[in-house]
Amino acid sequence: MQTIDLKKLGLQNSGNYCDPFTGECYSDLVQETQMTTKIDPVCKMEVETETAKYTSEYEGEKYYFCSAGCQREFDENPAQFLQASAHD
Ligand SMILES: [Zn+2]
Repeated sequence: MQTIDLKKLGLQNSGNYCDPFTGECYSDLVQETQMTTKIDPVCKMEVETETAKYTSEYEGEKYYFCSAGCQREFDENPAQFLQASAHD
């Protein structure tokens, strides 16, 4: 009777991933990283919030920028860009 080994092999490929070093296991759902993006209000580009280097806060909102240039433009006159995005 050797039916157990086949079952074991099947389970290893059922969508779970176990890190051989830490012993931690992840399901497919957990492995999917959520990439959150925000719109740069100056140039309307999508900016990944996790890697964003240029951010500003205005009236309690956080804004993300693709470059220092966009951030500076926003800081000089935030209201201008917020109105423009609402108008669009
Ligand atoms: Zn930009």
